Amino acid sequence: MTYQADAGRYQDRMPYNRSGRSGLKLPAVSLGLWHNFGDDRPIENSRSILRRAFDLGVTHFDLANNYGVPYGSAERNFGAVFARDFAPYRDELIISTKAGYDMWPGPYGEWGSRKYVLASLDQSLERMGLDYVDVFYSHRPDPETPFEETMGALDHAVRSGKALYAGISNYSAEQTAQAARIMRELGTPLLIHQPSYSMINRWIEGGLLDVLEEAGMGCIVYSPLAQGLLTDRYLKDVPKDSRAATSRFLSAERAEGDRELAASLNEIAAGRGQTLAQMALSWALRDARVTSVLIGASSVKQLEDNAACVDGPAFTEDELAQIDKLTGP
Ligand code: NDP
Repeated sequence: MTYQADAGRYQDRMPYNRSGRSGLKLPAVSLGLWHNFGDDRPIENSRSILRRAFDLGVTHFDLANNYGVPYGSAERNFGAVFARDFAPYRDELIISTKAGYDMWPGPYGEWGSRKYVLASLDQSLERMGLDYVDVFYSHRPDPETPFEETMGALDHAVRSGKALYAGISNYSAEQTAQAARIMRELGTPLLIHQPSYSMINRWIEGGLLDVLEEAGMGCIVYSPLAQGLLTDRYLKDVPKDSRAATSRFLSAERAEGDRELAASLNEIAAGRGQTLAQMALSWALRDARVTSVLIGASSVKQLEDNAACVDGPAFTEDELAQIDKLTGP
């Protein structure tokens, strides 16, 4: 059936936050396609999640060259859904991709050389069937390639029209300050940083957020639910279809080890009238320097649960203190 986006998608409640001092606003909740969008998942499920997301005002979809099993399949599947459902809405969407991790064999298939970064962008555009992406990221800092070269490749991607903005991911505070300076000098200021951040992973509070504010960059945080640990997913057991049971990126032992903590946090969430997932997302958004939380979802239900985090009440000092006591730095 032809997809018709919900006419009320901008009238509901999704806030749009400015990314640093740029002209671009991002939805408070963005959707990532790392898991759940590869060839190992039914495409109709992936398609339903994408459609529902857009209907809820989630205008930003985040990808990378190697997302999905096998690598590249999330971009290819996204491209197929885009062609069927989203092509008329291209100007309402922010689509990002990245290059940095292992993608193809040999010395030019990962890290930060100009050779790899630009070839990877061309491949991503082809897989997705797009003329350009909105944001193109260096996915991780390369300890061997000079930042001037990697940033030069991002600058070229923007100047060639294949990307509208440039971003970095997984760079430390010091590396971010250096990259931001180089890009400012090149005339293509970095739009955004994409670091990991959650109630149980608070490293960005130790300097990165200050650097981003100073540089006028936004911050979109990934794995704000700690891949599902900060949800009700593992409160009782480790479900067979869960990430902890099926992915090499999260172990069942870890899920079991964090169960008690999740149960305590779940009580605080209930007191706020939220699910644990919603509280974890509201918490990550409590600092205005965090532009967006970048979530994953394996079902429409999870997506809806997460998107509703924006309706949550502000945190009281007492709630924040309780969370700090349980998870604090
Ligand atoms: P999350 O922390 O949001 O974890 C998502 C997982 O949590 C889901 O797959 C699901 O697990 C579970 N979950 C989500 N919502 C709920 C809910 N309401 N109730 C119960 N369980 C829930 O984020 P991800 O780790 O998936 O990362 C999000 C995005 O961030 C990625 O898609 C990617 O775009 C980006 N990312 C970027 C990285 C980088 O290096 N730049 C690295 C990692 C991610 P289940 O599958 O078991 O149902």
